[in-house]
Amino acid sequence: MAKVLLATRNQKKLGELHRILVAAEVEGIEVLGLADVPEFPDAPETGATFEENALAKARDAVLATGLPVVADDSGLAVDALNGMPGVLSARWAGRHGDDQANLDLLLGQLTDVPDERRGAAFVCVAALSLPDGTQTAVRGEWRGTITREGRGDNGFGYDPIFVPEGGTLTSAELTPEQKDAHSHRGKALRLLVPLLAPLAG
Ligand code: IMP
Repeated sequence: MAKVLLATRNQKKLGELHRILVAAEVEGIEVLGLADVPEFPDAPETGATFEENALAKARDAVLATGLPVVADDSGLAVDALNGMPGVLSARWAGRHGDDQANLDLLLGQLTDVPDERRGAAFVCVAALSLPDGTQTAVRGEWRGTITREGRGDNGFGYDPIFVPEGGTLTSAELTPEQKDAHSHRGKALRLLVPLLAPLAG
């Protein structure tokens, strides 16, 4: 069975990636997480774009493990903030991964932005890097609007304040399966499936 490493320490992302690969019926591939391989240093995410970060993360993990690697970089691009927080989404309030502080800061910044200008998109770039040096990056986007207060307990990050286009629930009120079906990460990952399938042993 061919092994593919998903280079993320975020358990919720790992879960999403796993579910998507299973749903796409990619057989003959064992999906490993970072906990399944010997530890290697995490380079800081310093890229100016999601593509740069995802490709760098994937390349570093291939060099460390010799395995084919899928890595992603994602974030929220808010129209009224000219696409920010973007690649800085995880540390918008100053500390990496403080979801509540990030979300509160963003809501404060958008206080005076009227409903018709509260558009945003979740963006995910998924990179596949192979031991032969081949690299590919694909992008998925999920459009929606930013609410005025958080709702829902599912998901992570900015999910409680993001209402996907065409609905009324926040992405934190959707079931994991509903989120996967439409999300930026789901879209990007599904674009990678045709490239993963030939790796199956
Ligand atoms: P990354 O781990 O560098 O890709 O940073 C992703 C950051 O963007 C997370 O910490 C969240 O703040 C935000 N983000 C990305 N995807 C999602 C999502 O599906 N829901 C909510 N927030 C997300």
